[in-house]
Amino acid sequence: MILVLKTGVPREKVDALCTFLQKTYGVQTNPIYGAQTTIVGLVGDTQSIEVESMEMLDEVERVMKVQEPYKRANRKFHPDNTIVRVGDAEFGGNKIVVCAGPCSVESEEQMIGIAESVKASGATLLRGGAFKPRTSPYAFQGLKAEGLMYLKRARNRTGLPVVSEITNPSQLELFMEFVDVVQVGARNMQNFELLKELGRINKPILLKRGFSNSIEELLMSAEYIMSGGNTQVILCERGIRTFETATRNTLDISAVPILKSRTHLPVVIDPSHAGGMAWLVEPLSKAAVAVGADGLIIEVHNDPKHALSDGQQSLTPEAFDELMKHLAPVAEAVGRTI
Ligand code: PEP
Ligand code: MN
Repeated sequence: MILVLKTGVPREKVDALCTFLQKTYGVQTNPIYGAQTTIVGLVGDTQSIEVESMEMLDEVERVMKVQEPYKRANRKFHPDNTIVRVGDAEFGGNKIVVCAGPCSVESEEQMIGIAESVKASGATLLRGGAFKPRTSPYAFQGLKAEGLMYLKRARNRTGLPVVSEITNPSQLELFMEFVDVVQVGARNMQNFELLKELGRINKPILLKRGFSNSIEELLMSAEYIMSGGNTQVILCERGIRTFETATRNTLDISAVPILKSRTHLPVVIDPSHAGGMAWLVEPLSKAAVAVGADGLIIEVHNDPKHALSDGQQSLTPEAFDELMKHLAPVAEAVGRTI
């Protein structure tokens, strides 16, 4: 339920109203102070609260019922875009944020080399997996803590904040020390115990959509994180499973405008895992920018043929540089920068 307050209600009165609502109805309150109006979102068991009794309150102008099961992630609760700040990057702002780097961290030299080159091409974050959730237990599983250390060294050298995937709450302490954005991979989107832990930390979370999860399920996973107090959530569309076999996954491009209308959270696209082939990264990235994505996360490898994971979909640093040049006019055409 959302209470739209009358214009000019002072903060003390908003606070008093929130306390009253918490005590009387046992709900949590989420006030958002806008330039003109203040709105108060109510979360919890709001079914038993009558609209009429809310309308009778002095401060209240209008009452809206929120049908959707996600509340804190709902744009109705927070009409303005949420901006997630990481270093110089602002996910959800006008400038499209590009994260680039290898699928897996393989060595310190590799990470420093890639970081320097993608930075020069315009990337603002460095990606690299250290704990790899692989389909086969015999495939390379990542360098783990050592990999996170190499990421941090690349960060120290270049100033690029780093994003890396967590696969288990037991890794949290390491991630708090070494990583700027904690990635939740497609396979863990509904690992609710992990999401609850991430709700308690003060670090941005890049939440990837599971390959067989609906948009609403993605928003409910964001809600798990946000209900713990961490509102810095970035959503990522990375392709879903369909009957189509021509691509690794099917990029659900319409997920971007749908998500942008339903939530205030920033939305990024991963064209690398969506298409699964390096040559598809450019057309899918252009589509992502054109459709309104707030960012891209792209796999870049110094030697894709010998990459320990996902080489077939990785760009060389040179191809990434070309891609960035080709994306600039697309961004401009939709009123954004990159
Ligand atoms: C990755 O980013 O390397 C990755 C494993 O992605 P996803 O979880 O989307 O498959
Ligand atoms: Mn990968």
